[in-house]
Amino acid sequence: MSRRPLAQINTSALLHNVERIRDMAPHSKILAVLKANAYGHGLLAVAAQLKDVHAFGVARIDEALMLRAGGIVKPIVLLEGFFHADELSQIVASNLQVVVHHPAQVEALVKAELESPIHVWLKIDSGMHRLGVEPADFKEIYQKLCQSKNVLQPMRLMTHFACADEKDNPATARQLALFRQTIGDAAGELSIANSAGVVGWPQSHGDWVRPGLALYGVSPMDKGRSAAHALRPVMTFSSSVIAVRQVRQGDAVGYGASWVAPKDTRLAVVAIGYGDGYPRNAPCGTPVLINGKRYPIVGRVSMDMTTVDIGDDEIAHGAQVILWGEDLPVEEIAEQVQTIPYELLCNITSRVQFRYI
Ligand code: PLP
Repeated sequence: MSRRPLAQINTSALLHNVERIRDMAPHSKILAVLKANAYGHGLLAVAAQLKDVHAFGVARIDEALMLRAGGIVKPIVLLEGFFHADELSQIVASNLQVVVHHPAQVEALVKAELESPIHVWLKIDSGMHRLGVEPADFKEIYQKLCQSKNVLQPMRLMTHFACADEKDNPATARQLALFRQTIGDAAGELSIANSAGVVGWPQSHGDWVRPGLALYGVSPMDKGRSAAHALRPVMTFSSSVIAVRQVRQGDAVGYGASWVAPKDTRLAVVAIGYGDGYPRNAPCGTPVLINGKRYPIVGRVSMDMTTVDIGDDEIAHGAQVILWGEDLPVEEIAEQVQTIPYELLCNITSRVQFRYI
């Protein structure tokens, strides 16, 4: 077995999650969000698997061009839209769709001389205050885009939730109400729900859902676990034991000598570190899984290595160590290190080997 850290990507879990999303939002088309290297799972490999979704969403044009260069012909939506009018010719040439979220983009788009019209997703700011046109400006902008020869009809009308992961947060119902009030009876296909919308807010499903995290089998809900939504984790992140050491009570371990053995014990040194994307701030006690049993990290995570207290257990040199995966939810590790699963998944570095099963 390779000693290198490994991200194993379970494609049947990925396809299962698409089916689960379809079960949860049976009347919606699926725009699968593949930005940031498909949340760390591998852009092209994931896209090639997702034959049954209707479109892909990426943040930036480079990601879309990578998909096209890799032979992906499905509709691709640029979720951040375009920055400069001169990107529009590339957008047309590569058959991309754009989110329009700012009046400057509207002006650039209606003025442009395009070879053919494009699909536009007009984004309304319903309360997140990041991207989106002001509700008060919607009517005028909508009409301009409807009249433009550069815009295919019907348009897609969208908004994005800020707090949908919190089931009791009233902000989501307020966003939904403002969005619906703003669009009124404007014609268009509606798209509101991210993963948390799919899972927790059925009234937000509309014509298109835009799941990211749920595709990868991770719960989008605050303190949630994938099993609660019958989603299956797609990634198992693992490495190997490269040394087993005896330490005595009082021995300090790792950089900064920050952990001192409270009693005689044995340590497994694991070939995983922040150079692989494992979080440096994982505190002592963060679990790993060896032979199906949980053991705590002790001492500081370094660039290439992490130490684990295995007590009196016999662990073989080369044993597989799971950092997160099916029986060790990435959601739990994220809580331990006070971040979100999105960040852990995206942070995996290029020296990690990927295997698709
Ligand atoms: N839609 C938009 C506009 C987004 O920016 C994102 C991601 O941030 C998503 C959908 C997918 O979000 P999630 O991964 O929470 O499903």
